[in-house]
Amino acid sequence: MTEELFRKDSYLKECDADVTAVESQAVAVDRTVFYPLGGGQPGDTGSITWPAGNARIIDTRYGDSGQILHVVEDGAPLPPVGESVHLELDWDRRYRHMRMHTAMHLLGAVLRYGVTGGNISAEKSRLDFDMEDTVDKEAVAVAMQALVEADHPISCRWISEAELDTNPELVRTMSVQPPRGKGEVRLLEIVGVDLQPCGGTHLKSTAEVGKVRIGKVEKKGRRNRRVNIHLDD
Ligand SMILES: [Zn+2]
Repeated sequence: MTEELFRKDSYLKECDADVTAVESQAVAVDRTVFYPLGGGQPGDTGSITWPAGNARIIDTRYGDSGQILHVVEDGAPLPPVGESVHLELDWDRRYRHMRMHTAMHLLGAVLRYGVTGGNISAEKSRLDFDMEDTVDKEAVAVAMQALVEADHPISCRWISEAELDTNPELVRTMSVQPPRGKGEVRLLEIVGVDLQPCGGTHLKSTAEVGKVRIGKVEKKGRRNRRVNIHLDD
């Protein structure tokens, strides 16, 4: 298994690691700052450097046995197993993912309907809501911007399933029911705004989201509204 450094600190941009496995075009290491594709958030890109070479990492994803694979571009050299490497993120791209991801939590807090899907990219993100009503874009934009400007602190904490069971009010305040069966649940909390299980990378406060623009609202079926958002800067 790969130690997931980004879970404790999403602002880490680089790290040293040891290569644990090499597949056809991917490298697994013992620890990483690279977020693997999941929860609607893309896998990170960046670079891997070792004494004898370097390569571009074009994607990050989970391998079959749960380790994190850093996919390098076709034809790039690969470090040998056991080699010490240095990993560095394309930070500008990842930071936009963090702003987008956090903006999605704000959107979900403003539009209190069930969420049926979502996707994040550096340019545009979307959430699908289980709703029939029309979306008042102007009102949503104003409400989201107010949450940004209020600069709510954001934190993550792990909680045991037993602890969840003994605090039923915690589950009631969550917008999404936590997945069970792993013994522990990772909770994302935007104090006073949102509390839900989430494994993605977030900002440390809502002010960093910056300027958000509500894009197209698409009707994807009678009970489905897709809301697109953009970062304006
Ligand atoms: Zn999240």
